[in-house]
Amino acid sequence: MKDFFAQSRELFNYTQSMRRDFHMHPELGFQEVRTAGIVAKELQELGLEVTTGIGKTGVVALIEGTGAGPTLLLRADMDALPIVEQTAAEYASQNPGVMHACGHDGHTAILLTVAKILNSARDQFPGTIKLVFQPAEEGQGGAESMLTDGVMDNPKVDITLGLHLWNERPVGWLGIAEGPTMAGAEMFTITVTGKGGHGAIPQGAIDPVLAGAHIVTALQSIVSRNVAPFDSAVISVTQFQGGDAFNVIPPSVKLVGTIRSFKPEVREMVLKRFSEITTGVAEAFGCQVDINNIRLTPPVINQSRTVKLVQSAAKKVLPDSTVDSSAPVTMGSEDFAFMLEKVPGCFFFVGSANEERGLNYGHHHPKFDVDEQSLPRAAALMAQAAVEILNS
Ligand SMILES: [Zn+2]
Ligand SMILES: [Zn+2]
Repeated sequence: MKDFFAQSRELFNYTQSMRRDFHMHPELGFQEVRTAGIVAKELQELGLEVTTGIGKTGVVALIEGTGAGPTLLLRADMDALPIVEQTAAEYASQNPGVMHACGHDGHTAILLTVAKILNSARDQFPGTIKLVFQPAEEGQGGAESMLTDGVMDNPKVDITLGLHLWNERPVGWLGIAEGPTMAGAEMFTITVTGKGGHGAIPQGAIDPVLAGAHIVTALQSIVSRNVAPFDSAVISVTQFQGGDAFNVIPPSVKLVGTIRSFKPEVREMVLKRFSEITTGVAEAFGCQVDINNIRLTPPVINQSRTVKLVQSAAKKVLPDSTVDSSAPVTMGSEDFAFMLEKVPGCFFFVGSANEERGLNYGHHHPKFDVDEQSLPRAAALMAQAAVEILNS
């Protein structure tokens, strides 16, 4: 069998030039027209059957192995973020206000490289590889949109695999963990309504600012007093909006934030306490509340069997790496969770930071950049894992 890491290193110039091109021309969710066009062209040049327009700007291609077998979905996300890039990289964003600050440029380049590797290794696996280039991962529903367009059908997908470059860890680190690895996420909006009035005559008003402030404080008791110490959850109020004048009590204020959790029972309890506390505190101050909660993603839950295969692939193809199997990896969220909910599989992390070179800013930071040495490692592992899974 070919050494996929040797092969991915031979393809480094290709991977790097693709990644840098995507980095220079970032596109927001569901606007990845240029990116998707390049992806489709590259895949067609390999002679693959390519379908575009799945989930608006998504691209799907198939690689047929040798003989009948399962269908394995390999996914990369393609979207960038509304951030003004502050790196001094020669390949910095040429699209002002839009930046690949999460590494999805790398993911797209990695999966194109995996396509080349696996296309030249068709005789080494049975079944079908379904390459999925997904739009709009950053909270806009790209995964759901591809699911709606039938990404799991024709051929029906049996196993799913995805990865994230991970700048919290150095190149050489791999996070491949069983069970819940990333949190489920919600976005909430609370509107607190009282009665506006003169700032100097509070007795004639019902102050929603004061009620809102108490709500923010009281919500913090959920994680500290209701969630069991060995479980985890996060409640962050990230926006407090209201009022226009220094001497006017506004009629209402708006609080916005996010809730993160792993276990369904913890999520349910947190949401129940969230509603009770918000309503109860508001009432105590004579205000009304309107709560709107949107579930962004379920938690990322990895299937034990697939995780073990990816871990064994890692030991074979990247023997110099550190395989970290401790879960959860982060309270961050990822919409690949929707795909994992439909078809089990594994979402793993590939360390991409290099502190010495200053390439260790966190995801979504305006100076975020990865060490490109992580790219051939990620491609080799994904290709090796695919072959091991299809042969298992
Ligand atoms: Zn992100
Ligand atoms: Zn991301």
